[in-house]
Amino acid sequence: MTSRWAPGAQTAEEILAETIEHFGNKAALTCSFGGPGGMVLLHMASRITPKIPVLFLDTGFLFPETLRLRDEVAERYGLEVITYRPALSPAEQAERYGDRLWERDPDACCRLRKVEVMARAARELELEAWISALRRDQGASRRAIGTATYQEIAPGHWLTKVFPLAAWTRRDVWSYIVRHRIPYNPLLDRGYSSLGCIQCTVPHAGSDERAGRWPGQNKVECGLHLS
Ligand code: SF4
Repeated sequence: MTSRWAPGAQTAEEILAETIEHFGNKAALTCSFGGPGGMVLLHMASRITPKIPVLFLDTGFLFPETLRLRDEVAERYGLEVITYRPALSPAEQAERYGDRLWERDPDACCRLRKVEVMARAARELELEAWISALRRDQGASRRAIGTATYQEIAPGHWLTKVFPLAAWTRRDVWSYIVRHRIPYNPLLDRGYSSLGCIQCTVPHAGSDERAGRWPGQNKVECGLHLS
C-alpha cells in the first residue's frame, strides 16, 4: 500500500509535472476521449513526457468518433495509449446478464465495463497514481473534489488520484484548447457536453455538463470516481 501524497504545486501544468516526477511510470493518465478536459491533460502531459502511460477504457459501446480521436491523438503526440477492455464482450454480457443491462441495472453494467476494468489495469500496470481531468464545475457530483484524493481501487490496492484541472472552469478548458489548437471530440460541436457509451449519452446544453449522461436514470457517475 502506498502512502498518502498530494502535490504542493498550484497550476495544472505544475501539478501534472510534480505527479509524474514523484510517481514515474507508476502514474497513469486516464482519458475517455470524450470530454474536452482530457484533451487538455494529454497535451500538457505530452510536453512533459510522452512516456506517461495513457489508459483508455473501451467499453465496447463507444462512439466511432471517440475511437478515431484516440488513434489520431496517440499518433499526433506520440503517446502510448493502452486500451483496456471488459472481460466480457457485449454479446457475452447479454448472454450472462440479459439484454440491455444498462437499462435495468446501469450500475452493474458500469461495474463490469468500467470499474472492474480500471481495477485490473491498475493491478497489471502496478499503478500507484491515477491522473484524471475531473473538474469541480462539471456538475453537482464533482463540486467537492480537491486536487488529490486517495482511493482503494480494489481490495488492498490504494491509488493516489490527482486532478490537475480541479479548479478549472469550462471556459478555461476551451480557452486552452483554442489557444493550442488541440483536437477534441467532434460530437462536442453537435450538442453533446459529455460523452460516454452511445446508449447512455444524449445531447445536452446546460450548466451541468454531465446531465446528458444516463438520461432518465438516477445516476450521474459511472462509479470510477465515487469513492
Ligand atoms: S455507460 Fe451505460 S453502457 Fe456504458 S458501461 Fe455504463 S451503463 Fe453500461
